[in-house]
Amino acid sequence: MQALLAAVRDAAELCRLVQDNFLSANTKADGDHSEPVTIADYGSQAIICRALQQRYPYDAVIAEESGAQFSQLVAADQRAQIAQLLSQVLRQAVAESELIAWLDFGAGRKAARTWVIDPIDGTKGFLARRHYAIACGLLLEGQVADGIVAAPGYNDGEGALFYTREGACYRAPLAAGDGRRVAVSPRQEPADIIAAQSYERAHASKSRMARARELAGLGNVRVLELDSMEKYALVACGDADLYMRLPRAGSRYAHKIWDHAAGVALVRAAGGAVTDLDGGPLDFSQGKTLPNPGMIISNGAHHQRVVEAVGQVMAE
Ligand code: AMP
Ligand code: MG
Repeated sequence: MQALLAAVRDAAELCRLVQDNFLSANTKADGDHSEPVTIADYGSQAIICRALQQRYPYDAVIAEESGAQFSQLVAADQRAQIAQLLSQVLRQAVAESELIAWLDFGAGRKAARTWVIDPIDGTKGFLARRHYAIACGLLLEGQVADGIVAAPGYNDGEGALFYTREGACYRAPLAAGDGRRVAVSPRQEPADIIAAQSYERAHASKSRMARARELAGLGNVRVLELDSMEKYALVACGDADLYMRLPRAGSRYAHKIWDHAAGVALVRAAGGAVTDLDGGPLDFSQGKTLPNPGMIISNGAHHQRVVEAVGQVMAE
């Protein structure tokens, strides 16, 4: 895991370099909608997959980006630019062909260990200089086991690296250094609860989430809005207590496992609760998408009441 922590830190450094110097986006298709993608998404994935290939050559990987898409979507000058930036961050010459091979490492394989990677979660936040995350989760036989989440925007841009180890959750400085153990907050009092939710209104129904809080007796809580899996990290370290993701009316969006696996590992290891909208478990064993329409993440305090409130809201 130490080698992977270093790789995720390198990926975060690459993202920062791209954000400061070369920020622009291409558009890729995802089902019936489109999503932005940048050269940092590809570069970040290449760095993490390279580390996996070195340490775990027989493991499987499910990652958001692919070598074929990189070759087709990204213009030649941008491909050269990201290869150059990778060379800089990894302190070794990197050819475009190597970068493409790393992007596809472990793809399409079946193995007991599957790594689940979102090289930039919250690309819209990354482009708008809000929050984003770099995430690497580990599934053992289809169950979430461990996770690493880098959150460069954490604590007003100070940044942090969150990770699990032997069933506990840690927060370390983003650049380097050991982590300190963190846990979910003990907050119970409704007036003290802090909620977190997506910034983008297309990603979850803000009105349903407000209604569910109201029905659960949490109508007046503070609500933080931010992009990415940093929300899972906030619950894991006690900075927030409740994170809901309720689909908008009529949405048929299929959640991707890379948007959740690492975050779920953090919250569980920190002593929190993660469930589907009906209080059951999330199912990570079905390939790249989750069958679950939404999720409820909390410090545990009001979880059951929120599940009941969500049931009522979804039936309304
Ligand atoms: P967040 O900032 O927490 O909303 O998370 C960002 C993630 O939401 C991105 O990785 C997207 O893949 C994902 N996403 C994109 N469109 C949707 C949608 N319509 N519903 C739910 N999630 C989405
Ligand atoms: Mg994502």
